[in-house]
Amino acid sequence: MVKASNNKNHVDLENAVIGGSLKQIKCPTSKVSDPKNPELISVWTCDIRPIQTKSIIKLMAEEITPYDEVSLVHVKRLKKLDPEEKTRGVVIRAILCSTEFLTSKAEVCAFMKEKDTMFDEEFSNIQRHELPRFLPPTKETALLWSTQYWPMSWKGNPNHQTLLTTEFDLDIERNMVLKLEQLASEEAKLGKVPIVTIIAKPERSSDELNKPIWQILAIGYDTRHQYPLEHSVMNVIKLIANNELERRQNSTQEEQDDSDNYLCHNLLVYTTHEPCVMCSMALVHSRIGRLVYVKDSPKTGALGSCYNIGDRDGLNWKFDTWKWINSGEVQKLENIPNINLAKSYNV
Ligand SMILES: [Zn+2]
Repeated sequence: MVKASNNKNHVDLENAVIGGSLKQIKCPTSKVSDPKNPELISVWTCDIRPIQTKSIIKLMAEEITPYDEVSLVHVKRLKKLDPEEKTRGVVIRAILCSTEFLTSKAEVCAFMKEKDTMFDEEFSNIQRHELPRFLPPTKETALLWSTQYWPMSWKGNPNHQTLLTTEFDLDIERNMVLKLEQLASEEAKLGKVPIVTIIAKPERSSDELNKPIWQILAIGYDTRHQYPLEHSVMNVIKLIANNELERRQNSTQEEQDDSDNYLCHNLLVYTTHEPCVMCSMALVHSRIGRLVYVKDSPKTGALGSCYNIGDRDGLNWKFDTWKWINSGEVQKLENIPNINLAKSYNV
């Protein structure tokens, strides 16, 4: 069951957009299917008698699922056939495995003969079926696909929980994006590259209202004309590092022992352009909490466009990435002279 929303903003679950402004950028391995045009996979089905059900379920759990690289958690593995197909008595049709696990009908038969003592080749009616590769995005789509393809298993989309429980103050987020645009515009006027990154710390106002306020800790600009690795993200992390160094030099040993060793632990990053691989890895290494960017970098972007560095299994830190898509602010950024200079850049 999807929990009730904590989010005061409208949440578009299908497109992963909050308040019409922030689009969640996630790794494709956790993606869900397009409801109208799902990517399909092929599987092998096998007809069984009710008495075989237990042994088939055991066979799937022990001999197939751990080794089949195609995940089938989103489909029901067994279905009873309709009465008109029941000339053979009660028949259950089971999805055995993907056609990537066993590639031909002959292989399926050989596998079943070896593994299942009750296997009846003539009765089994081994067939190839097509069904959606990924989770259905909504319960309605799950019901539709259950009639179109095969019964789907719907336990709620885990990412929907994330979307419904992620709280954003959209006014604050918008103000941060506007700040980026103001700074990028000033850079452009000076004839510089309009790529800007801000690192901020989420805090609450000290008055009785206790409102969320973002304290800007550092602003980074693109200075690669001085040195090729000085992208705005690298520069802003360097500023945080310098501040931290100064703080440590002025603190006691006890304060230093208590301090966090990761430079940007759970801090918030706002940047005009989707960062490159180098910058994204630096953000992982600094353990940021969340990043919002405005412009995709289709060829070099390492968060949504290529690689998904912020949401990648195997790295020791993940952070949430969001793209600001509200057309008002996006258009404002697009109007900045030379904003697309960055097309030929790694950002
Ligand atoms: Zn970069």
